[in-house]
Amino acid sequence: MKILEDRIRQDGTVLPGNVLKVDNFLNHQIDPQLMDQMGAEFARQFADQGITKVLTVESSGIAPAVMAGLHLQVPVIFARKHKSLTLTDNLYTAKVYSYTKQVSNDISIDRRFLDADDRVLIIDDFLANGQAVQGLFDIAETAGISVAGVGVVIEKRFQKGHQMVVDAGIPLVALASIASFEDGQVVFAQD
Ligand code: 5GP
Repeated sequence: MKILEDRIRQDGTVLPGNVLKVDNFLNHQIDPQLMDQMGAEFARQFADQGITKVLTVESSGIAPAVMAGLHLQVPVIFARKHKSLTLTDNLYTAKVYSYTKQVSNDISIDRRFLDADDRVLIIDDFLANGQAVQGLFDIAETAGISVAGVGVVIEKRFQKGHQMVVDAGIPLVALASIASFEDGQVVFAQD
């Protein structure tokens, strides 16, 4: 999406460790109009796939997932990273290592929200090493549901996640695809 690439060029900052900071429009302050356009684009690309639910992981995945769910007109479920008093048993759980925070979390979804005949679209803000998406794949497999696709706002194609999703045979849509960072600048993939 050109509008997203322009915004990344304008507002993104490349940090050490191959981390792109985009917290003034994506994952701290949120630009709702841009988010809405991205949700519409995910919905357009995954239309007619029989998607029944959108899955994501809290917290940065929630905004794009909600917009995708709004445009697809299906419910949105976010996996929680911390167990709460109201979320104790009857959970699907997977382990996820966080690339940016360098800690491992269990992510959980209440079993009541997934049905055997669900067909889900996984949405996240970033695809880096693919740990978050793999955690949701694990939950989908345990729940016996099918994954129609993965949609990410930004993929860093030079990290492992892109190939992991391709190797799993799952359709992948990245609204912006970063080939590399060079001298603190973002280089987008050409295709
Ligand atoms: P993965 O599990 O694919 O390694 O990483 C995905 C998660 O790590 C994303 O949900 C995102 O929150 C975070 N992340 C990975 N790379 C970046 C990055 O370059 N910038 C930001 N802001 N977050 C990232």
